[in-house]
Amino acid sequence: MYEALKAQIVSVCRKMWQKNWAAANDGNVSVRVGDDRFLTTQTGVSKGDITAEMIGLIDGQGRVIEAEAGFRPSSEVKMHLRCYRERDDIGAVVHAHPPCATGYACAHQPLDDYCLIGQVIFVGAVPVTPYGTPSTEEVPDAIAPYLAEHDVLLLANHGALALGTDLTAAYCRMEMLEHQAQISLVAKLLGGAVDLPRADIDRLIGMRPQYGAAGRHPGYRKYPQK
Ligand SMILES: [Zn+2]
Repeated sequence: MYEALKAQIVSVCRKMWQKNWAAANDGNVSVRVGDDRFLTTQTGVSKGDITAEMIGLIDGQGRVIEAEAGFRPSSEVKMHLRCYRERDDIGAVVHAHPPCATGYACAHQPLDDYCLIGQVIFVGAVPVTPYGTPSTEEVPDAIAPYLAEHDVLLLANHGALALGTDLTAAYCRMEMLEHQAQISLVAKLLGGAVDLPRADIDRLIGMRPQYGAAGRHPGYRKYPQK
């Protein structure tokens, strides 16, 4: 079952690996396929080598419902499941360690510039959520307060998380995050990014429906720098 969705997950995983967002076995992807049912990538496999057989069906408790023998869900499945629990509107979650965005996560610097059109419309301000030990409840507990108004998060000393109404939306947000991080870094070298005027930010945020930008958006926000 779900052949087309599994093929799409494989495609996203391969792109993540090719883009250097996932070293060794890093990164994981999930998709909501129905009431209390989710497809998720297997733990312990390079995203460059993943195949459709390495994607399993689980429930909201992380229990395996249907999968090949030996399948074990992604080590960060609790983080994914918390996203779905907190957000009825979310259909897919992508987690990766894109180097530039993860640099911001390691420096505890939020990506809250409002200087790029696409970033203002589709992503908004990206906070750094508190550190949690991977695979424990610390990570879902750390991100939960931010999910009310954010679809994209930096995980302190770890990586990044992107949510979307479907897998394409979640993947594209991760791609935009890393692009934004690279541009922000260049702007810092040149003296710092210059935000758009507030009136233009509001106008772009108001254009979200016409661009099909579903999900939450934090609006204009600056986070305290550490
Ligand atoms: Zn990770």
